[in-house]
Amino acid sequence: MTAYHPSVRIAVPAAPLAPVLALAALLAAGDPAPARANGVNTHVWISFHAIDHLPDGELKRLLSDPALAPMIVNGSIFPDGGYAVQHDFGEAAHWGPFHAALVRWMQAELPTPYARGAARPYVAFLMGVASHGMADQIFDSTFMEAARGYDAAGWSDTLLDGFDTATDVLLVAATGVDYRGTEPWLPAGALPGVFTEVGITVDDGTLLDAQSAMHTFILAYGAVNGRDPAAVARYRDQYPWAAARLMDPHEPGSPPCEAEVVAAYWLTLWDRLHGVDPLENQIIATYPPAGSDGHPTDHTRVEAQVVVVFGRGIADGVADKLRITDVTGKAYGFTARPFYREANAVAIRPTEDWAADETLTVELLPGIATVDGATYDQGWSFDFSTRPASGPRDPMSDPTPHPGEPWTAPPEGAGCDGGCDAGGGAGLGVALAALLARRRRRR
Ligand SMILES: [Zn+2]
Repeated sequence: MTAYHPSVRIAVPAAPLAPVLALAALLAAGDPAPARANGVNTHVWISFHAIDHLPDGELKRLLSDPALAPMIVNGSIFPDGGYAVQHDFGEAAHWGPFHAALVRWMQAELPTPYARGAARPYVAFLMGVASHGMADQIFDSTFMEAARGYDAAGWSDTLLDGFDTATDVLLVAATGVDYRGTEPWLPAGALPGVFTEVGITVDDGTLLDAQSAMHTFILAYGAVNGRDPAAVARYRDQYPWAAARLMDPHEPGSPPCEAEVVAAYWLTLWDRLHGVDPLENQIIATYPPAGSDGHPTDHTRVEAQVVVVFGRGIADGVADKLRITDVTGKAYGFTARPFYREANAVAIRPTEDWAADETLTVELLPGIATVDGATYDQGWSFDFSTRPASGPRDPMSDPTPHPGEPWTAPPEGAGCDGGCDAGGGAGLGVALAALLARRRRRR
């Protein structure tokens, strides 16, 4: 699954920091894939920001619990740990089949309700992992694709000068976030079996080594350099287009925009954990938004593309199930593919200009296949226009938002066994102890 990762050379800067040297030594041991896409401080920031995009309800309350913040941090950085130790588990952890396998493990092993008992730290970890994979494909297919053109002069694919590292440092500089000091945490004992389900053999020791390396080197690199004015200036000069737009919520694929799509993906997983998968989970975001104006016409610009984000990873062959026409009946030529193998985001690139001052309709025909062997038998369509827009817009909205959640809280005062929302660290300890006891009883 590493086919999409070009190999990378390690560039050691003139005056490297100690953690950077250690990281270089760690990664120079072989021919590592780059930690591309968002950097890990960015991934964690996106996860916490995505909580704001959730509707009020149990999932939002759970993920807002400070006691579970370490699990969100750990989940959000986990997938890139595979690159740090050159193991395929990292690539697999980015995509839907792994998220689905983790959901199945939780359904089999954890007590319900998931919002209130021992399952809570696992939910936080799952949502962190899922946030990472969704964010990478949104960022890469939109913001990073545009930056490749606008910031071509300084573009680099080396680790320390690469786009992911640069934007991670710039995000820390812009937001001041600092996640250092979070203890490494993984769902002990659970992950090797979950990885077996997606064809990956890995043990807990390897996973924990990788997770520790992510905390010590990768997370720290962004945190340290984001507080170093010289480093920030250097990255800003190297990627000026991206630096000016990184935190702009109106820029397609910026971290604030990514967080909105992450929240929509979380709701699909929360549904599926509860054994339901309603129709509104089929499409979780589009670029441009359904019903929006102002789409660029020039097909040679990345921004003229259309991106449809599904609730599940999409199989090859999706191009045959799409049609784009305008009101005159003209059908447009395009290419379309999941942006990465097993990705939810399908990038549709026109091979001719969209007509000016025109309304276009994107039709998704029944029969689009997912990577987990399902087929969407329901068609769907949405419009956008190339007429001038009246103002800045939300770049990637969910056209079919959730009306509610599958799980409703018990009435006030009904009691809570094994950890309440306000349980804090002690509640978590109780929850883990309960889980361990439960696992022992099964043997
Ligand atoms: Zn990643």
